Amino acid sequence: MTGNSTSPVWHPFTQHATAPAPIKVAHAEGARLWTTDHDIIIDAISSWWVVTHGHGHRKIMAAIKDQADRLDQVIFAGFTHEPAEALARELIELVPPGLTRVFYSDSGSTAVEVALKMALGTFHNRGEKRTRILSLEHGYHGDTIGTMAAGARGVFNAAYAPLLYDVTRIPFPVAGQEQTTFDAIDAACRTGDVAAMIVEPLILGAGGMLMYAPTALAEMARIVRHYGALFIADEVMTGWGRTGTLFASEQAGPVPDLLCLAKGLTGGAIPLAATLATEEIFDAHFSEDRSKTFFHSSSYTANPIACAAALANVKVWRQEPVLARIKTLTEMQRRRLAALGTDNRFRNIRQLGTIAALDIDVPDGGYLARIGPALQRHALSMGVLLRPLGNTVYVMPPYCISSDDLDQVYRAIVAGEAFARAGAAS
Ligand SMILES: *Cc1c(COP(=O)(O)O)cnc(C)c1O
Repeated sequence: MTGNSTSPVWHPFTQHATAPAPIKVAHAEGARLWTTDHDIIIDAISSWWVVTHGHGHRKIMAAIKDQADRLDQVIFAGFTHEPAEALARELIELVPPGLTRVFYSDSGSTAVEVALKMALGTFHNRGEKRTRILSLEHGYHGDTIGTMAAGARGVFNAAYAPLLYDVTRIPFPVAGQEQTTFDAIDAACRTGDVAAMIVEPLILGAGGMLMYAPTALAEMARIVRHYGALFIADEVMTGWGRTGTLFASEQAGPVPDLLCLAKGLTGGAIPLAATLATEEIFDAHFSEDRSKTFFHSSSYTANPIACAAALANVKVWRQEPVLARIKTLTEMQRRRLAALGTDNRFRNIRQLGTIAALDIDVPDGGYLARIGPALQRHALSMGVLLRPLGNTVYVMPPYCISSDDLDQVYRAIVAGEAFARAGAAS
């Protein structure tokens, strides 16, 4: 069989044999995309969870242009530059206290890889035999081999399974049954070989927008740290306001030892990631003995243009009423979800800050459920970009989305569901 695509581009998470031709986007502003055919599409998923304030935020775009005129790229080993230095100082001030060191990379996956390597390196350098990683069932931490290993196993990574290292999977902290989770972490940590536990704080994104309580997050961190292991917060999706606070970890109390940031770090404009670490972890790599160096780099580590964009994003957070906008969006989402609450086609209606999610009641759940792609196609015909996770539909728009546009998103969900159900029945 040959592909039906006339373009040489191989798209991510795309089955080219069945996918419709990709839509060509020419322009974006706020919560809207404009196609080359001049159609308007409402970006209800923030272009895969990255765009926070809105597309094309003027201050972030201006910072990118300004930085591009001065310094495009420079090696970051043995050299530094002001955007990276200033950004690191700002990040340290914004994140929960105790995180004092900033390591730059380029994507969420690399931020997580760096955190895992730092955790393992810390114990290796100390001469402690701790190599086991704990992670939450249904978790997602990226698509590289190392991050896939830490995340949930399934159709997405079956082909690579033989190369994925073993992790100890901890049951998701279901409301009311959290003790099961705590007991599993306790039992795993008692063996003394656990290096770290990695979690997505408060909400598991790609696993289906599964939400859990801040008290559960706090208790998981407490147990892990009680046994001398490190707690890694993967805030790649939850960071930068998504859950109602700047970082989800803020809602829990105990500080993570490692914090991963990416997606919204530049407001969603260009790629940049950061892994923040405690002084203790930095110290474990600080030595006259060069073998204790943290051996990691990517070519574009701390790209100056990306750092300038992130710095502009931080300024937006400091100077504009971003949290107030988030509160408004949270309330807008709440009202629309409440209106769906009486509709028995939708189950598990849930919300965390700006993120709204619901499950469509179908016997055949799971990612490959036909209902998701059909709903997605129908929503698109109504000018709304949605991307259901199996039978879970979620709305995660840029914070600037208008009330009218959000109404259209929910109309598309209701109409898309009916369309998809009719198709599934035939
Ligand atoms: C998206 C995501 C990642 C991976 O980020 P990329 O930039 O796509 O590599 C890691 N962890 C979480 C929680 C994510 O949502």
